[in-house]
Amino acid sequence: MSIISIAIDGPSGAGKSTLARSAASSLGFLYVDTGAIYRTIGYHIYREGIDPRDAAAVEAELPKLRVELTYGQDGLQHMLLNGRDVTAEIRLPEVSLHTSAVSGHPAVRAYLLEMQRELARTQSVIMDGRDIGTVVLPDAAVKVFLTASPEARARRRVRELQQRGTPEPLEKVLEEIQQRDWNDTHRDASPLRQAEDAVLLDTTDMDFQESEAALLRIIRERTEQ
Ligand code: C5P
Repeated sequence: MSIISIAIDGPSGAGKSTLARSAASSLGFLYVDTGAIYRTIGYHIYREGIDPRDAAAVEAELPKLRVELTYGQDGLQHMLLNGRDVTAEIRLPEVSLHTSAVSGHPAVRAYLLEMQRELARTQSVIMDGRDIGTVVLPDAAVKVFLTASPEARARRRVRELQQRGTPEPLEKVLEEIQQRDWNDTHRDASPLRQAEDAVLLDTTDMDFQESEAALLRIIRERTEQ
């Protein structure tokens, strides 16, 4: 069987991870959440109290880091930082904004590029992120740009945070989403943008089942999976 790569890009809170994970499990592909990889670096910078906008200070930390990705018995992607499982910590809201700033530095993107490509070399993957279709896997068989309005994304994030037991007010979550959108689309290094050959999937008015069906349809039409 040939190796197939599927790239899913889009802004924060568009439902990329949940949808990509479920599509990967339907297709028997490996799901790779690249946001978690960037978050692992963001978490380190946050924990060390380093200014995430300070490119030189952030770059100086990279040689000290060993970032690894493993799949636990639960089948979920776990992130290891210098051998320690940081899967839970990288989801802290403070880490999100640090990550968004840290991932604008070209040195950070270069440091993680090969790791991401290597994962797609030996197995079929659905990889989600911000620059998968444009930079990491430009030859992916299917590229999807998954988005929804900032308000819809904020409402979904609020529900998710509530379920995790770490509730946040809607206005704060919306502001953070807008801030991250701005950071991710305005940086010089691999800004978030739709690849020319990506299919746009806007889930603002779709529920989860509708979004999932639409994503699988796009993939199946293009890969005969
Ligand atoms: O996808 P998630 O929200 O977990 O990503 C956290 C942050 O990591 C994003 O706001 C973005 O700045 C950065 N990121 C990136 N490139 C990727 C994945 C994530 O810059 N491929």
